[in-house]
Amino acid sequence: MKQKSIPHTTHNGPPAAEAPSYFQCPECGFLSADARFGAGEVPCPDCHSSGARPRAFPSDRLRRLDERIRHYNAEGDWEVVVILAETFLESILEDIIDRILAAHGADVTVRSVVLDGQRAIGARIGRLFPALTGEEFEEVAAELGFRDFPHRWRVLRGARNAFIHDSPFHGPQEKLDPATAHEAMILLDQAYKLFVLINNRFVADGFGKHGR
Ligand SMILES: [Zn+2]
Repeated sequence: MKQKSIPHTTHNGPPAAEAPSYFQCPECGFLSADARFGAGEVPCPDCHSSGARPRAFPSDRLRRLDERIRHYNAEGDWEVVVILAETFLESILEDIIDRILAAHGADVTVRSVVLDGQRAIGARIGRLFPALTGEEFEEVAAELGFRDFPHRWRVLRGARNAFIHDSPFHGPQEKLDPATAHEAMILLDQAYKLFVLINNRFVADGFGKHGR
């Protein structure tokens, strides 16, 4: 288990201009932001292997979704920003759980069976994540410097749900305001940092333990 000092990165400034770029070591699964590693100029900062070309993270699919969210945010289309950002957060969680499963030695079939068996986001966070990592998502987020992320994500999910579904208790929420969209953008930017740290803690370690 890697215990590195993690700066507290919660901030409320303007959103980033674009998705960050990370590169995943094909040997150990470690994600690095070092472009020289991505270009194959330096070895993996974690396992020091070199040779095999690192894979890009986020995936092209997530990067395209990210671009669209930033576009709609610039256009002031707050409803679409919140709905797509929530979709993005659920997708990046699925991506990281898939990587953790792979690090446990699960092949593609097992991974799709597990993920299809737990489609609801609440069950993925509340049951699947702790089953695979041995820790609650909230604890891990706090340890990695993102203590308020799980709660803020739940609040955002609630706002999205109230907008797209009629609630028998509160009635429909007619619109999503700019503040909710701004919150969605903050969580979008934080999600990359948090999920890279989760990857490096559980995936990179898992690759080392279980082989590939
Ligand atoms: Zn490596």
